[in-house]
Order: sequence, then structure tokens, then C-alpha cells
Amino acid sequence: MKKIIPALVLGTMVSLQSHAVVDKNFDYHVDRFADIEVLRYEVPEFDRLTLQQKKMLYYLTEAAQAGRDIIWDQNGRYNLQLRRLLENIYTGYKGDRNSKDFKAFEKYLKQVWFGNGIHHHYSNDKFVPEFSQSFLEGEIAALPDNMLPLLEGQTRNEMMSVLMPVIFDPSVMAKKVNQDGTQDVVATSAGNLYEGVTQAEVEAYYNSIKDLNDPTPISYGLNSKVVKENGKVKEEHYHLNGLYGDAIARILYWLGMAKEVAENDAQKAYITKLMDYYITGDLKLFDEYSILWAEDTKSDVDFVNGFIESYNDPLGMTGSWESYVNFKNSKSSARTETISSNAQWFEDNSPIDPRFRKPNVKGVSAKVITAAMLAGDAFPSTAIGINLPNTNWIRAAHGSKSVTLENITEAYDMASHGNGFNEEFVIDEPTRKLMDEYLYITDMLHTDLHECLGHASGQLLPGVDQDALKENGAALEEARADLFALYYLADPKLLELGILDNPDAYKAEYYKYMLNGLMTQLNRIEPGKDIEEAHMRNRQLVAAYVLDKGKKGKVVELVKKNGKTFVKINDYKKMREILGQLLAEIQRIKSEGDYAAGNALIQKYAVKVDPKLHKEVLDRYSRLDIPPYRGFINPRYTPVYDEKGEIIDVKLGYGENYVEQMLRLSRDYNTLIK
Ligand code: ZN
Repeated sequence: MKKIIPALVLGTMVSLQSHAVVDKNFDYHVDRFADIEVLRYEVPEFDRLTLQQKKMLYYLTEAAQAGRDIIWDQNGRYNLQLRRLLENIYTGYKGDRNSKDFKAFEKYLKQVWFGNGIHHHYSNDKFVPEFSQSFLEGEIAALPDNMLPLLEGQTRNEMMSVLMPVIFDPSVMAKKVNQDGTQDVVATSAGNLYEGVTQAEVEAYYNSIKDLNDPTPISYGLNSKVVKENGKVKEEHYHLNGLYGDAIARILYWLGMAKEVAENDAQKAYITKLMDYYITGDLKLFDEYSILWAEDTKSDVDFVNGFIESYNDPLGMTGSWESYVNFKNSKSSARTETISSNAQWFEDNSPIDPRFRKPNVKGVSAKVITAAMLAGDAFPSTAIGINLPNTNWIRAAHGSKSVTLENITEAYDMASHGNGFNEEFVIDEPTRKLMDEYLYITDMLHTDLHECLGHASGQLLPGVDQDALKENGAALEEARADLFALYYLADPKLLELGILDNPDAYKAEYYKYMLNGLMTQLNRIEPGKDIEEAHMRNRQLVAAYVLDKGKKGKVVELVKKNGKTFVKINDYKKMREILGQLLAEIQRIKSEGDYAAGNALIQKYAVKVDPKLHKEVLDRYSRLDIPPYRGFINPRYTPVYDEKGEIIDVKLGYGENYVEQMLRLSRDYNTLIK
């Protein structure tokens, strides 16, 4: 639950301030289809790494890509088979590649690649093909049997009868993650984390094995699929000799190589522990690994590789496989080090009930990193900040590691220049100017504060179940971290620490946050739909709450200008007070495990959309032609060998396009479909 994903405006608003190391000629734009733009990111300062670090990085990027098929299978049980089928048709197609059907087919395949499966990465809705079923059937008929991804014993016709409805029937596997609490969210979610079980059965199963008195509980269900066998509910674990063993074997090979060139013993120790966990699937080992990993703050090259975030599970238990490989950006890390070394001050002064404050904030280590590879659930759509481990007791006892992916934020920002967003949606010239000057830095700071301090702050009262907020847990946790960040962005402490140089700088972020939460993020929602995704719910919750509570004093208003709606903030100071009040309430809800109050807040502010305003936002957006979602392809790392077969250098290359990269990954990292 501890990742921050880019707000819509982060990808679209333009701020020209203080970019660190940017090649002005770097081409960020790669591809554009449906509601997606694909970018590439730069990896500055790769050349300053030592040969040993470059080798380490190379091995880790291989370990990252080796797990690609896992996320495809977790996202839906037919995804791998479908991917193979679609790619074989795509590469072997003999007809007119400019025909309407083929263009629609290509668009669909690009969407499926981006979603790591047949569902949209953000809305969770199944993609709707714009080519005809007869077109696809004709293409499949033209493929010889050996080009069909038939499962063992499956005939061509059997395959067709399974896959055609999966692609074309809107009622089949309609939603990857269904969060509608009035339904059985397990049975109605199309993800492949449960099979043949109901929500009630899964909850009963976990209740029967959970020990609420254990002060150091494992993360139940993190690495398993829940199934029914002979009428009995059970977990199938992901490990070397279990589910996804073939992919895990390959991850293990590359982790083993990386271990040999680790920077220090601490790093070697956590890689060893991670490997032991992958071999056995023992979640106790995963906790031990997480502690070692969180406590290693010395290593320059670093990575995440595993079953981590549980957003794709309607019950928030099973981790989606992901990997990030990165190295430290020392210059920018000075900023986060200042923040984290003052963590206790922030905790002690936060506007919450003192009983819910942490008496000792443990080692919130924070750094700014340069992403070198994104993989699994973090690819192509990625977070811009991460804070791990997720386990509450580990965070409390051993601290957590918080990172900001600066080169990714930079790429979003640089790729947005001149897109007309600010002119269309920001109320007036002075506000635009403030944002031009301060949005880049306050956005970064928001991410830092959210990750280093927000998620790490506060404590549960004794005996409160960490999953007590159930399906609202993720949205409320994100709101808590955002509120902590927003509250402190306006604090004079940041000027005192030398992080900001203008007492009004925070207003840039406040304006952006309200504009996004009340209006512009609606661009990501289809007409008539509610808000589902946790971060979007969080952002609307915060913004709508401020608007509502500030109504009397006209703190924030929605005003009309030339028939268009604008956010107008009249009293930034008062707005900060309201943010503080909401932070206090959400912290209380979390600390006491008050499900009812949390659910009431979510239902009142976070879910429903004003259809008129929604339509206006969509219309204004469509005239700007800005894609609502963006993601990245990775650079390539190519080792250079000497005549003895030793790596003497690693070359970094940016030349691939989106289609080339996706086809290469499917060819070279195909582990789970033969
Ligand atoms: Zn977060």
C-alpha cells in the first residue's frame, strides 16, 4: 500500500523549474494509442557507476525482466495464452497493415501490452476490441497449429471457445479488480489470485489461520493463490517448486549472479535471504529479508524484486509481482536526508491525537534514486515514489526505506511542455506563474513527504487489526500520507530547513491538488462510472472534503468564467487547517480500526462523480488532446565481454520503440508459456 503513483496533473502540468541533469535533445516520446502515451526515461549518470556496480545493475535488470510472465498470469489466467496468440498474428500478418481491422487489432495489442493483460491497468475494465470477431477468427484460421498457443491436450476449437468470449464478450471477466463491496469481490474479480472460492470462504480461511495476538505476523496471503481442492480452501504458494517456479528459477539465477558482485555484506545478506524466500515461499523469510533490506542504507545500487503491492487483490492480501532496479542520486538525496533526519519533529508536531503519534519514529531512510529498470506490475505504468516494506510491525520496529524516482518525474514533466493544460485549467496568470516557478519542486517534496514521513507516521492502538479498514484501507492510507505531506508543505519548518525559499511556494501544490482532485482527474473516468482506484478515491476524498468543510468561509470555490468551471482558492491558510482536521480524523480511523467511519468518509466524498462537471472536464480535455495515462519503456543494457568471456563494460541504449521492446521481452523472457 505504500506507493505513490503520478496524479494525472503530474503527467500534464508544466513546470519549468530546476531540472537537474537533462539532455535537452533527449526524445521522451515513444508511442501513442487509445488513452495512453508511452515515454522513455533517461538514466543520467549511469557512466559514473563502477564496473562492479554496472555488472550488478545488469544482473538485476535481468532478474527484473525474468519475472515478466508472472504478472501477466496474476492479472488473468488467459493472458499469457492470449499474448502469444495476438503476437503471432501480429508478426505473421500478411495482409494490408493499414487496413481498418489491422489498425484496430494493433491498437488492442498495444493496450494489452500496456495492461500486462486484457484489463486496463488503472480502471481495471476489460479492453474493448474495435476489430471484428470474424477478422480475428480468420487470422487464427490462417495460423498453422504450431503457431497456436495450445495448452496441453487442447484442440484448436477448444482454445477458440475459451478465448473468443474472453476477448469479445463484455460480460466475461469484465473487471480485473472489483471493489464494489455490495458484491462478492472475489468471485466477481477477473484477476487470477483466487479460483473457485467465494469471498466468504477466503475470509473464513484467513480468519482461521490468522493469529491476532502475534506481534510479528507474516503478511498472510502475500505469495499465494487461493483455490479449492476436494472442497477444502487452500493456498498455492509462489516459489521455486510451486506456482511460477519456472520464472522464479530464472529470477534466482540472476539474483545469484548479482549477489557475487554485491557492494557490501549487508547487501549480500539481503539478497541471500530473498533467494531463500523465493526457494521456499516461507513468508517469515520474506520478513527477515525485508528487515535486512530496509536497514541497508549504504548501497548505491538497490532493487525491489518480489510480490509486493496488493492493489490488484480485491481483499488486499496477495502481492503483485514487480521489480525496480535503481541507483542513488546523491545530489538530490540531500533533500530527503534533511527531511528524514527531522522525522521525529514532524511526528511530534503533526495535528493528530498524541495517542496516535509514534513516540519513536524508527529510521525513516529516504533517498532520491535514478530508476534503471521497471518491471512486472511497475511496467509500463510506474510509481514515482515507493516506500517499503509494507508490513506495519516491521515499519514500526525497523523503519522503512522511502525512495523518490526523480528521473521518472523528470521525464513526465519534460514530456509535458507546451501541451496547453495550464492555460485551459488554471484560473489565472498569477496562479500559473506560481506553478511554473514552484510546482516541480513542491511536487517532488510532496512525494518525499508522502513517502518518507506520511506512510511512516502514526501508530495503531494495541490489538487493532491492520486490515480492519478492509476494502477502504488502501484509499484511506493514501489519503493519510497525502494529508501529512500537504499539511507540512505549508509549514515554516521547510523554510527553516532550507528546502523551500518562498513561504508561498506550497500554494502551487495546493492549487494543483484541488484542481486534480475536484476536476482534472475525472479525465480518467468514463462517463457514468464511479471512481474505483484507491489513489483517485484518496485525491477526491481530500479535495471534496476541503471544498465541503470550507463552504461557509468560502475557503475554496468552484467558479464559472466564460461558461467554464475553475477552482478558486480564497484562503490557503484556512485550507491548511481543514487538511489538518481531516488528517486527524483519518489517523483516528486507522489507529482505532474504525471501519464504519472510514467507509462513511469514502462513500460521502470519494466515489461519486458530478456528471455535469465530469462531462465538461472530458470535453475540455479532448480539445487539448492530452493522453490521460502514461507509462515507459525501459532502456537496454548490453554487456560487453572480453575474449575470456568476462564483462568489461555495460552499454546503455535508448533506441527501441514500444513494439520492438514488447516483442523482444515476450521472446527473451518467456518463462511460463511453452
Ligand atoms: Zn502512498
